[in-house]
Amino acid sequence: TPRPDSSSGLSFDELYSLSETLGSGAFSVVKRGTHTRTPTTSYAIKCVTRSKLTREDTLALKDEVSILSQLRNCKHIIRLYDFFEESKMFYLVMECVMGGELFDRIVEKSYYNEKEARATCRILLEAIGYCHEHGVAHRDLKPENLLLRSKEDDSSIKIADFGFAKIVEGKGSLKTQCGTPGYVAPEILNGKPYDESADMWSVGVILYILLGGYPPFIEDDQRRLFRKIRKGQYEFHEEYWGSVSEDAKNLISNLLCVNAENRLTASEALQSNWISAATDAELGAI
Ligand code: ADP
Ligand code: MG
Repeated sequence: TPRPDSSSGLSFDELYSLSETLGSGAFSVVKRGTHTRTPTTSYAIKCVTRSKLTREDTLALKDEVSILSQLRNCKHIIRLYDFFEESKMFYLVMECVMGGELFDRIVEKSYYNEKEARATCRILLEAIGYCHEHGVAHRDLKPENLLLRSKEDDSSIKIADFGFAKIVEGKGSLKTQCGTPGYVAPEILNGKPYDESADMWSVGVILYILLGGYPPFIEDDQRRLFRKIRKGQYEFHEEYWGSVSEDAKNLISNLLCVNAENRLTASEALQSNWISAATDAELGAI
């Protein structure tokens, strides 16, 4: 790998020019940008204002950078090319994808048919399996953080936003409560130590949303929402799920297991009937 430009002594502004905003999150604005040397290649540049960060936020951002640099060999994880630490700003120079968030695509389509959902889910399982093999828990999997490669393809996703990601130092080694209410695993809400299996709960929620077109746990009041999640109280309503295969519903049920010990791992989920039922034609399309 070539020497990163950030070690060249040149500043970010001397090397890159920024254009339109691609998205934004709690601490950052992500803009499209180009390098002066290769003006036809777009990058997604996460711009973070340092003064908005607490000490912990800054440490988390450094974790995000070091974890992303360890996960560079998976084509379904957004690549990080460079990191600039300047007096007022941090810049993460990442691979740019132009298909937008999976969240918006689901809203556009209302829901995915089984073939489309299977292709999307297989990629998600392969990519999250890769993270877990490398000892990384993502901890904020949701359709906003899954980005589509292009406008034409509804299934080719990449995992983005490793802002909450953490190295797992053994079973039940994670403690911090984090994530997003509707996607968070029961053991995290219970304040129990947890590990990468918490991500597999979120995969279950995402698959439910893909096929059903709505989330498994809905409540206006957050306390009630959390109570439902802790009990694993969700249903496959006949009106929306009547024509969905049992294999798909079984996979969801084996991911939305309140007891993390019984929850499928990524590689087990890849071997489930529903995922392995894919025809050769379907697989050829990925
Ligand atoms: P935050 O940690 O602040 O939530 P994210 O990394 O999730 O930041 O980025 C915020 C949004 O910016 C994403 O939801 C997405 O819409 C957009 N975005 C982030 N990374 C990319 C990328 N590599 N290519 C295209 N858009 C991106
Ligand atoms: Mg985000």
